[in-house]
Amino acid sequence: MACLRQLLRNAPLVRSLVRWQSSAEPSLAVGSTVKGGVCFDLTDEQKEIQQLARKFSREEILPKAAEYDRTMDYPWEILKQSWELGLMNPHIPSEFGGMGLGTFEGCLVTEEIAYACTGIQTAMEANNLGQMPVIIAGNKYQKEKYLGRMTEEALLCAYGVTEPGAGSDVAGIRTRAERKGDEYVINGQKMWITNGGVANWYFLLARTNPDPKCPSSKAFTGFIIDADSPGLTKGRKEINMGQRCSNTCGFTLEDVVVPKENVLLGEGAGFKIAMGAFDRTRPPVAAGAVGLCQRALDEATKYALERKTFGTQIFNHQAVSFILAEMAMDTELGRLAWMRAAWEVDEGRRNTYYASIAKGFAGDAANRAASNAVQVFGGNGFNTEYPVEKLMRDAKIYQIYEGTAQIQRLIIAREHLTRAKTGLM
Ligand SMILES: Cc1cc2nc3c(=O)[nH]c(=O)nc-3n(C[C@H](O)[C@H](O)[C@H](O)COP(=O)(O)OP(=O)(O)OC[C@H]3O[C@@H](n4cnc5c(N)ncnc54)[C@H](O)[C@@H]3O)c2cc1C
Repeated sequence: MACLRQLLRNAPLVRSLVRWQSSAEPSLAVGSTVKGGVCFDLTDEQKEIQQLARKFSREEILPKAAEYDRTMDYPWEILKQSWELGLMNPHIPSEFGGMGLGTFEGCLVTEEIAYACTGIQTAMEANNLGQMPVIIAGNKYQKEKYLGRMTEEALLCAYGVTEPGAGSDVAGIRTRAERKGDEYVINGQKMWITNGGVANWYFLLARTNPDPKCPSSKAFTGFIIDADSPGLTKGRKEINMGQRCSNTCGFTLEDVVVPKENVLLGEGAGFKIAMGAFDRTRPPVAAGAVGLCQRALDEATKYALERKTFGTQIFNHQAVSFILAEMAMDTELGRLAWMRAAWEVDEGRRNTYYASIAKGFAGDAANRAASNAVQVFGGNGFNTEYPVEKLMRDAKIYQIYEGTAQIQRLIIAREHLTRAKTGLM
């Protein structure tokens, strides 16, 4: 298989992205070749990216997905292959050795990988999540050191925010960082961190201002922390309901010393960085959920055309065909939602509203679609010999991580109100 870099060498998309990155102007070509008009055609380059990811996903991941789910082994082999193909780390800017692709192109890859296995997709996506604070807020030294190494070797990183006592309520985190000269000393505990046990480094959010009255926008600081730092101890791999080959792990920090060079942007800027990353990472989470929807739809359709009851294929029972129609609606609308959210941010616009709509809708859609697929399969759907029970277990996390279904609604309502008051509707 030719790698992404070879496929895109000298391609117009890459040239336009390089131009975009070297200027202060927003993106030119991502998501559409026609500026100002609505166009659902992918560019030739986007089609190539999609085709490469699809071929890899269907040929290399899909046949192995059930086994990874059963053993819960971390998919190192697949991740190394996808790194070699250029399907990992799509957003690392080209000046630091990466592909420098937009959110839209990253989502195209994510949807294809998720079609085959969302556990493996989550392992890949968590890498992007861990990198995103550095991409949006890192200085040249930090990007060269921490993003650069990921383009030289198949390494993983992670986003360390959640703690045993605080998930949705990020401002409730208790990990403390105290400045001592040119260093910070960090103590605390992180939980539910994807790639937590396999990461080479972490983005970590810690409280630097102990005053409970200090607003969130100033109380927290974002750090980059090497995973082999003395005092950092990784916990055991969590055994989850679904996406079982992905690595979810907690870690503790006891007097972990971090140089001030590893502070992102400046003391007190952490909360905004941590939340700001989601504008770029929620569209791919939505795209992953849509990949799962599409797989559920395809599996259910195939089965409905094979399985016969009362002398006919079950597809011919209107009740069954309507289930498939519902699944098609969820899939198509979820896809439109991630496309809009990704396109907005690639255009340089604030996309918080669209990112939460995409993540909220697609997360729910994946759960409906997976449950519907099990229904179409009848008893077989409940059994591990068939692919859809895994889809149902895997789907649930899309309503939980990167902001629960309820938190997405809070954000959408807040953004909607602002738009209503400011006449942005
Ligand atoms: C498999 C997995 C992978 C994860 N990966 C990462 C990762 O890589 N990095 C990371 O930092 N975190 C990660 N997380 C953590 C995840 O983001 C949190 O679990 C999630 O944000 C919810 O937080 P919580 O579990 O503390 O639930 P809580 O915040 O305790 O919420 C419990 C319930 O209450 C609801 N709720 C809470 N507050 C409100 C409110 N104000 N209004 C309405 N409803 C509300 C929630 O929607 C939920 O239904 C992961 C979690 C899992 C399970």
